[in-house]
Amino acid sequence: MAKRKRYYPRDSILEKYNYTCVYCGASASTVDHIEPYDWNHNNDSSNLVAACVECNVIAGDKIFGSFQEKADYIRTIRARGKWRRRASLKIAICCRCKKNFKPGVKGATNLLCSKCAAQVYW
Ligand SMILES: [Zn+2]
Ligand SMILES: [Zn+2]
Repeated sequence: MAKRKRYYPRDSILEKYNYTCVYCGASASTVDHIEPYDWNHNNDSSNLVAACVECNVIAGDKIFGSFQEKADYIRTIRARGKWRRRASLKIAICCRCKKNFKPGVKGATNLLCSKCAAQVYW
């Protein structure tokens, strides 16, 4: 996952996609690199799409053959309901620091504790 600050026009990317996640259609607050930044350091706008935190986390730094492959992978994972079920639990495991946390409390998302959610650069 993100290890350093990444420089790209985040707001204009989100605006271009109308703040909608390209993978699931939820409201997007993060920018996803279609090809992971750490792989080829590609900050070109053609490599950047709007994504919600959950889809961004599911994709992680995995490398896919194409955007379509990546989108299919994310949708398959989400369709399994694994992420949605976890969201309904009172305590979830943070997918970054692996500690227990309460989803949706104090800035936490469904997948990240509040501490990690505040630290992650997308
Ligand atoms: Zn999404
Ligand atoms: Zn955490």
